[in-house]
Amino acid sequence: MELTHPLTLDDFMSGLVKRNEGQPEFHQAVKEVAETVIPYINKRPELREAQILERLTEPDRVISFRVSWQDDEGHVRVNRGCRVQFNNSIGPYKGGLRFHPTVSESVIKFLGFEQIFKNALTTLPMGGGKGGANFNPKGKSDREIMRFCQAFMTELHRYIGPNTDVPAGDIGVGAREISYLFGMYKRLSNEFTGAITGKGIEFGGSRIRTEATGYGSVYFMQNMLAARRDAVEGKTCVVSGSGNVAQYTTEKLIELGGKVVTLSDSSGFIHDPEGLTHEKLSFVKELKNGKRGRISDYAEEFRATFVEGERPWTVPCDLAFPSATQNEIGSRDATTLIENGAFGVCEGANMPSDLDAIEIFRNSRILFAPGKAANAGGVAVSGLEQSQNAMRLSWSPDEVDSRLKSIMAEIHDQCVEHGRSGDYVDYVKGANLAGFIKVANAMLAYGVT
Ligand code: NDP
Repeated sequence: MELTHPLTLDDFMSGLVKRNEGQPEFHQAVKEVAETVIPYINKRPELREAQILERLTEPDRVISFRVSWQDDEGHVRVNRGCRVQFNNSIGPYKGGLRFHPTVSESVIKFLGFEQIFKNALTTLPMGGGKGGANFNPKGKSDREIMRFCQAFMTELHRYIGPNTDVPAGDIGVGAREISYLFGMYKRLSNEFTGAITGKGIEFGGSRIRTEATGYGSVYFMQNMLAARRDAVEGKTCVVSGSGNVAQYTTEKLIELGGKVVTLSDSSGFIHDPEGLTHEKLSFVKELKNGKRGRISDYAEEFRATFVEGERPWTVPCDLAFPSATQNEIGSRDATTLIENGAFGVCEGANMPSDLDAIEIFRNSRILFAPGKAANAGGVAVSGLEQSQNAMRLSWSPDEVDSRLKSIMAEIHDQCVEHGRSGDYVDYVKGANLAGFIKVANAMLAYGVT
């Protein structure tokens, strides 16, 4: 009897919040999806009866573990590691590892939940997972990073494998960390398999994986612009962050004739009205990947402005590419962006816009690409890395790039198919529904598991 009542967002969310107290990031990620899929669920009673949304918001398992390691002075340090294996209905769990002091169960659950839909959108067979540790890599020596990664993997290796769960990088986990992690995994498991992606080219990594998230984000924007017969060329672009995603977003935008005028890090942002060039970007890559310095150094080197403690959303632009971290755009930022003329926002980061900002973007009917669609290029190329490892093959950069382009175009088409209403495309609705339907149908087919 009860099942005939339509499911409401309020009822669903109040249950979810009760079951997951003190996890605001997770609540936020679920609410954004639930809002768009509940009307669909109410039209398909079999989904309601099978409690698909309730099951989909409860991870298969959450693994929490101690990471003990020694710093360079010989002091014993203790951190908390975690892996959330969220849903493997359409493939092995897949998602990155984040090393940052703000990592909590809530943050890893929000990221793992988003990953389910993102991975489904890529068209590749990957489930959703995420992991990390409340470890701060800033200021640590290479040897300390190595010892931490080895201690982390000493525990994590029991739970992962090429057909079980395949981690990758995220904030604070780049090429260096992946190499230490994979080296330890290989040793502990005594096998060389594609159980981690983002590896170096010499030991099973894929071409274009480093570039994939940033390039993919720009390809997604290209698709949105092309649908209204427009292009990146000549557009002023504001990019936040200065890590992996921001660097390769900037690289592709410059290549396509866009003018990137900002970058940021956790200390503030730089504004360069002349726009970045490939040479200036090389300086940033060396600064961030090699010297691990601060973005303020850019301002000194190129006589740009450095604005301490602020984010770049007050700088007028046509297109914005938030590519740093979650909740970096609030309602005031969203309003300012639109008032200053921005008509496209592409989320390179995961959940960079809070729920109020998303509402403002959707209501204003600008082009708004949610992270689970726009930044799916990274995990898509990770999926291609898994395929290459399984076949013991290595594809050329052109081959991988052209597959990345077609995957981003396909994700765009799925968003249009499920998000079109008249001449407006709601990419948030489109991405959520397309990802949800695929996973929900698989769960239904399995019965109650
Ligand atoms: P990096 O660690 O390479 O870079 C992160 C950047 O964001 C740095 O500039 C960092 O500044 C800044 N940042 C991190 N945390 C904060 C914070 N709390 N406040 C302000 N700035 C912050 O990470 P990625 O570029 O890989 O990741 C960026 C985003 O993209 C994340 O949301 C990630 O989940 C998402 N993403 C990444 C993918 C990938 O393939 N790498 C795939 C899909 C999504 P600082 O150096 O000062 O810490």
